[in-house]
Amino acid sequence: MSEMTADVLVIGGGTAGFGAAVAAGRQDLDVVLLEAGSKVGGVMAFCPGMPWGAAYPDDTSIGGLMEELALRLYDMTPLMAEKRPSTLENFGAEIIYDHDVAITTMFDMLQEAGVRVHLGGIAHEPIMIGNTIGKVQFHDRHGPHEITAKIVIDCSGDGDISAKAGVPIELGDAKGSMMGVTLSFMMENADWDQVFAGDDPYFTQYAAKGIAQRRLHEDLAKLYLMKGFHKDTVFCNSVVIRNVDGTDPQAVSRATQEGRRRAVQMATFLRSDIPGFAKAHMTHLGPTVGVRETRKLQVEKITQKTGVRFTSTSPLKGKRKLSSNFGKKLKVSTMNLPYNSEDCTEARGRYWLRTGLC
Ligand SMILES: Cc1cc2nc3c(=O)[nH]c(=O)nc-3n(C[C@H](O)[C@H](O)[C@H](O)COP(=O)(O)OP(=O)(O)OC[C@H]3O[C@@H](n4cnc5c(N)ncnc54)[C@H](O)[C@@H]3O)c2cc1C
Repeated sequence: MSEMTADVLVIGGGTAGFGAAVAAGRQDLDVVLLEAGSKVGGVMAFCPGMPWGAAYPDDTSIGGLMEELALRLYDMTPLMAEKRPSTLENFGAEIIYDHDVAITTMFDMLQEAGVRVHLGGIAHEPIMIGNTIGKVQFHDRHGPHEITAKIVIDCSGDGDISAKAGVPIELGDAKGSMMGVTLSFMMENADWDQVFAGDDPYFTQYAAKGIAQRRLHEDLAKLYLMKGFHKDTVFCNSVVIRNVDGTDPQAVSRATQEGRRRAVQMATFLRSDIPGFAKAHMTHLGPTVGVRETRKLQVEKITQKTGVRFTSTSPLKGKRKLSSNFGKKLKVSTMNLPYNSEDCTEARGRYWLRTGLC
């Protein structure tokens, strides 16, 4: 087993891990970002082209690294992102962007911050020193490795390492249910003028017909079809598979294959039944289903040097308030919480870093 060291080990290269690693790297710390997959982005990479929504709750930017990333994309020629109102109900403004350029820019920002990115590495075991994670064991194609780090930040989305380190967790929501997982895809070469000519944002009449004729899965009563970043592309995030344990790799694999079948079926339906899709084709099918809300970590509070503070009145109940050094207060309707540790694992829940605060 090889030995490595770092000041900061970030586990998981989703939006949370990206933010944590860049922020730490900019403080001249020696940072390793360990990512199980082949690119950074996490759910953003699993759902290519998915608009960024919660970066702009109530249409108010709260800054942070996701904002910085968006600004870089706005500044490119031709521009690679833009902000627009959502066409769906109950959604605020969202940012649409070129997926590949956005991921490339995330890699650039990591590199500029001096972060050592280690792709294809799966952390699997924390080695505790007292109540602190002193080392983490991980595997890559060369075999097992051990990394000693002063600070370990778990951004695995599912709290894999935090759970093994003994952080109290709950699976799913207050009733124990996990949100359905979704598989997204794009339709290219659609005709926006025709597709979005109607006044039903969810295409419900078409969907009802498809379901009645058993050409669409019954869960597809509402079709989430949104204009993509590039002209005549349409982002489709409708295919949902329910009752999947997102922490079980085999369950996720089965759900992904089921999602693929339903996505192909839906693309076929769009082409044949919805005006504007006749010449379109499917692209950017997610490599895996997007998983939300698996483990919830219980915590009392965490304070960051950067001034971000999380407070909660009582763990695992109600809404939390989040205050930041940007002087704004936001209500966050999630119960994912970091746990109270001074200097070891800073647990990051799924939703926090979409706010771009790290
Ligand atoms: C379709 C969809 C739409 C969504 N829309 C919104 C939205 O609009 N607003 C919002 O706030 N949230 C939204 N979410 C929730 C979204 O999942 C989170 O906000 C966000 O992705 C969390 O980012 P993260 O970095 O914490 O986790 P993830 O994006 O899940 O990233 C975790 C990363 O860790 C890696 N990893 C996991 N385990 C290990 C390990 N043991 N070792 C090494 N690497 C590991 C994974 O490969 C992955 O890259 C949506 C989710 C889905 C699926």
